[in-house]
Amino acid sequence: MKPFTYDSRAQRVIFERGALKHLHREVELLGATRAIILSTPDQATQAERAAAQLGGRCAGVFPKAVMHVPIEVARAAIEEARRIGADCAVAIGGGSTMGLGKAIALESSLPIIAVPTTYAGSEMTPIYGITDAGIKKTGRDPRLLPRTVIYDPELSMTLPFALSVTSGINAIAHAAEGLYAQDSNPIMGLLAVEGIRALAEGLPALKHNPSDVEGRARCLYGAWLCGTVLGNVGMALHHKLCHTLGGTFDLPHAETHTIVLPHVLAYNARAVPDVMRRIAGAIGAQDAATGLWDLARNLGAPVALRDIGMKPNGIGRAVELATQATYPNPRSLEPVALRELLERAYAGEPPKIDE
Ligand code: NAD
Repeated sequence: MKPFTYDSRAQRVIFERGALKHLHREVELLGATRAIILSTPDQATQAERAAAQLGGRCAGVFPKAVMHVPIEVARAAIEEARRIGADCAVAIGGGSTMGLGKAIALESSLPIIAVPTTYAGSEMTPIYGITDAGIKKTGRDPRLLPRTVIYDPELSMTLPFALSVTSGINAIAHAAEGLYAQDSNPIMGLLAVEGIRALAEGLPALKHNPSDVEGRARCLYGAWLCGTVLGNVGMALHHKLCHTLGGTFDLPHAETHTIVLPHVLAYNARAVPDVMRRIAGAIGAQDAATGLWDLARNLGAPVALRDIGMKPNGIGRAVELATQATYPNPRSLEPVALRELLERAYAGEPPKIDE
C-alpha cells in the first residue's frame, strides 16, 4: 500500500432540507453576535432571508460578491465588516461568495459560516483567490476554512439547470484529480468515488425535474464530498489548465471545467488506469473520459471551448502557460499532445481515447 499522511480538518457540517433555519443557532454556537451576510447581487433575496433568520445577530448585509473576487470588492467588504464591527461572516452562495468571505477572513481571521448554493465546493477548502489587475492570485491558509457549513438543498433549487450541470461537473473534476493526486490517501479516494457517483446520479434526475429535492440533495451531498477532496489534496493538469484558460482568456469557470475534464482524463488515462476504472465505475460507463463527455452532452452542457468565448489563437499561449508551471501530473506535460487536447476541446470533439 502506498504510504500516506492524512491531516483531518475540523469543520461542522449540517445537512438538511430547510437547514437555513439553524443559522441563528450556529452563529450563537460560534459565540458571534454581529454577523455580516455576504452574497452576490443575484442572491440578495436569499441573503435578506438569512438576515431575517438572524434577527439581532445580523449586523449587516453585503450583497456585492462577484466572480473571481476582484481586489476592489474584497477591500470594500473588508471595510464594511470593520465598519459594522462584524465578528463572523455568513457567506450564502457559490464559489464567488465563499471567495469574498475568505478574502475578509484573510485580513481579519473572522470565522466563516458557509451556506453553499452551488456545487463548486469552495466551502470545504482553505483555498483563496483574489484578482488584482486581471491576475488571480491563489493560496491556502487554514484560517480560511469555514468553521460551519450549512447544506440546505432547498437553497439550490433556484440554481438554473444549466449552471447546476456545469457546477456539478466542476465538483466531479475535484474528485477525479484527487484520485490521482500525489498526496492523496485512501479516505480521499473513498470520498472522491462516492462524490462522483452522487453527482452522476443527481444531475440526470434534475434534467427531468430541476425542482426534484432528492436530486438536489444528492448533488449537494456529492459536492460536499468532492469539495472535501479539493481541500485536502493537490490538483494537477486539469485544474492548472482551467485556471490558465479562465485567467488568461476570461472564460467562465464551471463551463471551462466541464469542457476540459474529459480531455484531461483521456490524456492521463494510460498513466493511471486504476483511477480511470474507479471513475468509470462511479458514473456507470465503460470509459471515464468518454462517459463524462457523454454525461455533459446528454445534459445539454457546452462541450466546445469556442462556444464559451475561447479564440483559436489562444491555444498556443495556453499550451505555453500550462507547460511552464511545474506541478505533479500522472503523465508528463507534452506540448504536442497538450495542443491536440486543447484543439479537440476547442472544437467540441470527443476525447481522444488511446487504444
Ligand atoms: P458563482 O458563485 O460565481 O455563482 C454563479 C452565479 O450563480 C452567480 O450569479 C450566483 O449568484 C448564482 N447562483 C448561485 N447559487 C444560486 C442559486 N441557488 N440560485 C440562483 N442563482 C444562484 O459560481 P461558482 O461556480 O459556484 O463559483 C465560481 C468561483 O468559485 C470561481 O471564481 C472559482 O475560481 C471559485 N472556486 C473556488 C474554490 C476554492 O476552493 N477556493 C473552489 C471552487 C470554485
